[in-house]
Amino acid sequence: RAAPPAKEVASICPYCGVGCQVGFRVRDDRIEEVVGREGPANAGRLCVKGRFGFDYIAHPERLTKPLIRLDGAPKDPADCLDPARARRHFREASWDEALERAAQGLARIRDGAGGPAALAGFGSAKGSNEEAYLFQKLVRTGFGTNNVDHCTRLCHAASVAALLEDVGSAAVTAPFTAATEADLLLVIGARPTENHPVAATFLKDAAARGAKLVVMDPRGTGLDRFATEVVRFAPGQDVALLNALLHVIVEEEIYDAAFVASRVDGFAELRAHLAAYAPEAMERLSGVPAEQVRRVARLYAGARSALTLWGMGVSQSVHGTDNARALIALALLCGHVGREGAGLHPLRGQNNVQGASDAGLIPMMLPDYRRTADPVARSFLEELWGAKLDEQPGLTVVEILQAAERGEIRGMYVMGENPAMSDPDLAHARAALARLDHLVVQDLFLTETAALADVVLPGSAWPEKDGTVTNTNRQVQVGRAAVPPPGEARQDLRIIADLARRLGLDWPQLQARDVFGEMAQAMPSLANITWERLERENSVTYPCAAPDAPGEAIVFRDAFPTPSGRARLAPAGLSDPGEMPDAEYPFVLTTGRELEHWHTGAMTRRARVLDALEPAPTVSLAPAELRRLGLASGQRLRVATRRGAVELLAREDPALPPGLAFIPFAYREAAANLLTDPRLDPDGKIPGFKFCAARLEPA
Ligand code: SF4
Repeated sequence: RAAPPAKEVASICPYCGVGCQVGFRVRDDRIEEVVGREGPANAGRLCVKGRFGFDYIAHPERLTKPLIRLDGAPKDPADCLDPARARRHFREASWDEALERAAQGLARIRDGAGGPAALAGFGSAKGSNEEAYLFQKLVRTGFGTNNVDHCTRLCHAASVAALLEDVGSAAVTAPFTAATEADLLLVIGARPTENHPVAATFLKDAAARGAKLVVMDPRGTGLDRFATEVVRFAPGQDVALLNALLHVIVEEEIYDAAFVASRVDGFAELRAHLAAYAPEAMERLSGVPAEQVRRVARLYAGARSALTLWGMGVSQSVHGTDNARALIALALLCGHVGREGAGLHPLRGQNNVQGASDAGLIPMMLPDYRRTADPVARSFLEELWGAKLDEQPGLTVVEILQAAERGEIRGMYVMGENPAMSDPDLAHARAALARLDHLVVQDLFLTETAALADVVLPGSAWPEKDGTVTNTNRQVQVGRAAVPPPGEARQDLRIIADLARRLGLDWPQLQARDVFGEMAQAMPSLANITWERLERENSVTYPCAAPDAPGEAIVFRDAFPTPSGRARLAPAGLSDPGEMPDAEYPFVLTTGRELEHWHTGAMTRRARVLDALEPAPTVSLAPAELRRLGLASGQRLRVATRRGAVELLAREDPALPPGLAFIPFAYREAAANLLTDPRLDPDGKIPGFKFCAARLEPA
């Protein structure tokens, strides 16, 4: 007898910020395959992660029961290297016992000498908007602190700081699909073919149609062969390059004078500041010939409509906010904002980093980016939530672990994040997590972070839940449960609410649609977007002016959301990009993702096809550097910085310039973040993952 046909459940890809709509084809509660659906961000396309990265949900290491640390079992950071060894320190427990243990430990710290400020929570951009919203509400009202953050801090925090400062809003001003109407695309510090692969297809399509494509990056990228200009600049010298471009545009008076006069403040100050940044003067620092800078400046300023896209290469820097300021100034000066085919687009990393930030999963802002110090916003939410809110902004991700290391933060609740792999200077981050009096981790696997927990709560994977996520284009999209969680694993919304009640909050058990309803009350940005509408249409862009309007893809056509309605040109100065190479550590180390693996690898390294494609950690180097070290691809190399050392396989990569080494951060056995520098950008509080001094030698 023929097998019954698989049913297709419409949802969203759980990986990058593109937000591709997928169909999970399910038979007998098992996903057999994933297909692309006609979403506004993907038009039926999927990359290898979306297509093949789903079977992690049924991996044998999946947690199916709550775990409690055995009495007296040591918290040893070495356990982060080996889940089997870590597992020996835990015993299985009932949900009642685990939740009670989790809540009691947190309440003891909250009600003790350190008070609420001794607690913190990390939520996740891999979860839904509803989970992000409930999580931050629990930390703010149940813990009593604003110490709540998530991986946006390690992602676009610098872009957010600069965008809020200069144009009054942190979201993109145009979707990446505006590329179809642009006549120039500027892509800087981003590798869309690896990190936003379906977005890259729209950029390539636009280039094939005749749009000019300018790609600026220290490393060669997959877009280079489609580019009109490839600008290879020295690592960390974004400001030198961007200021030189701005200098030419001002000096040659090729900026959009009418736009500047009517929409922008700060031109006189910026012009005076730029006098010292002639391309000839910047050439030594940026490594870009002055002639090319002048050529690109004229191309960009002369474009009818330019879309400016950037990624972690801009933001993950100790001067990431300055990088973003200079880039925003470039677009503002040329009027490339608020029109068809023009706009500012920081390509968001995780599938829901936009939505989680909007929902208030950040320490200095309540939902919809209202500052914790704003008394009107606080009293509105205090009434809605029935609880008092702290006006002091909380600590950020790296600051929280630094405070934990000092013994000031003593308890944490971590849902779906993996700071024992994602934070810089991991030896310290892991020691800080191990030092906590009480760590509650909610996740799918015994991750490197869960290995140091007191209580581990098994949550649900994305294909097992209903919820909304907001992609890089500001499109709020709905995902639907395709299969049930395994064993006793539970819906994350339920776990958060269960913990809340045990911490003394009078919370009912809510479904995702109920939480979304409350969010719509708390967040004016969701006006005219209802759960029912999302179920019908799958995707609605915010802001949305009417219940039947499609939402505004392009914003700021007439005014910016600042008190004056005008944007601001913010001068950016030169500063060192971080720890500079020297005789002892002569290389620059840069870290990031690769096409097949997602962030800390918890999901993709447990996805069979993806793991087969990229099974082992590598360090990529220019061919000449490999020869100089006397090595060939596939041989072992030791990479050391002032914070640690890892051994991994050498990989020859002609896209890398001499002196630069690249390591992806997904591999537990050679964790790149053992090497990275924890210094922070002063405004965005983001670490400089893209730049630190390193030494390489044969292992
Ligand atoms: Fe998923 Fe991003 Fe790939 Fe789309 S481009 S399938 S959202 S990882």
